[in-house]
Amino acid sequence: MSLSLLKDYLVDTPQPIIGAKTVQIVLFREVLDYTVLRTEETRELNTVVTPLSISQTDDVRRVAFLGTKQKAVESREMERMLRTAGEAVGRGGLDCYLKDNLCLACPRCALFGGTNVDSSSEKIANIKHRIEYGTAFSLLPFEEVETATTFNAINDQNQKTGQALGTRYAVRPATLFPSIVTLKSATLRELVLTLKTLLAAKNYGAETRIGGDLRNTIVGIAGGWEEIITPLELTLELFDKKDDLSGETAAAILQKYKAYAGNPQQVKVLSPVEVDKTVEEAANIALYKEFIANAYADVEEYRKQQKGK
Ligand SMILES: [Zn+2]
Repeated sequence: MSLSLLKDYLVDTPQPIIGAKTVQIVLFREVLDYTVLRTEETRELNTVVTPLSISQTDDVRRVAFLGTKQKAVESREMERMLRTAGEAVGRGGLDCYLKDNLCLACPRCALFGGTNVDSSSEKIANIKHRIEYGTAFSLLPFEEVETATTFNAINDQNQKTGQALGTRYAVRPATLFPSIVTLKSATLRELVLTLKTLLAAKNYGAETRIGGDLRNTIVGIAGGWEEIITPLELTLELFDKKDDLSGETAAAILQKYKAYAGNPQQVKVLSPVEVDKTVEEAANIALYKEFIANAYADVEEYRKQQKGK
């Protein structure tokens, strides 16, 4: 089993006090429709100044795909998957939703973390997240990925187009965001749920009515006792190799950063074939009764440990 290649970087059961075991999942987030990546306040895209690449240090602007946004979408996706899988195996509904009604008892809450906001209830411990996100940076500079659309208002009375209301900035289709999702002291089941979630999540639009479609392709996986590479380093490395965006390229970059690790002897970079098999295996694990029951039992045990029982 290819998933077992990562067993040294996974734990048997989730624990409140965590160790160093880390799995980094490297993925390409490819925009499939005009996508608005902005903060709430402005209509402008989030951009940041970065070097062009590892070898070319002149400054360019890139679009930033905030980690908080990736996390919010994928947390909801996992919750929906767990709710439907739970109903299918007769567990009953899952009463857990963002952002103020987290149950703190389901596998999503155990992995993504959560704060108890119900002040009327007895003191319930918070859960610290064990899945980590970082801001992803567009592979190509801002000028090459941005589009601006002017939108008009229609006058309801005479159906004539009114004066221009403003401009909407979006990222054009085929824009690529190299990205990393990191699991810390996660279980095999949590790795499987995370891989399934990354494959299933497709809508990341800030304005849900328009666009926001994205596809995640997992191109690399590394295990270790630390994070070996950051999303910005990944983008800068890939820009130099943008004519060969493949699993081989991702693996070569991870191997390069392995040499810079604090514990390089503990780092395992999966080969492209191993990555594909691992992802396929995770996708093919059905969320049947036993898997779901065990995943919930893990969370129950975690909560008991927090109470010191
Ligand atoms: Zn929950």
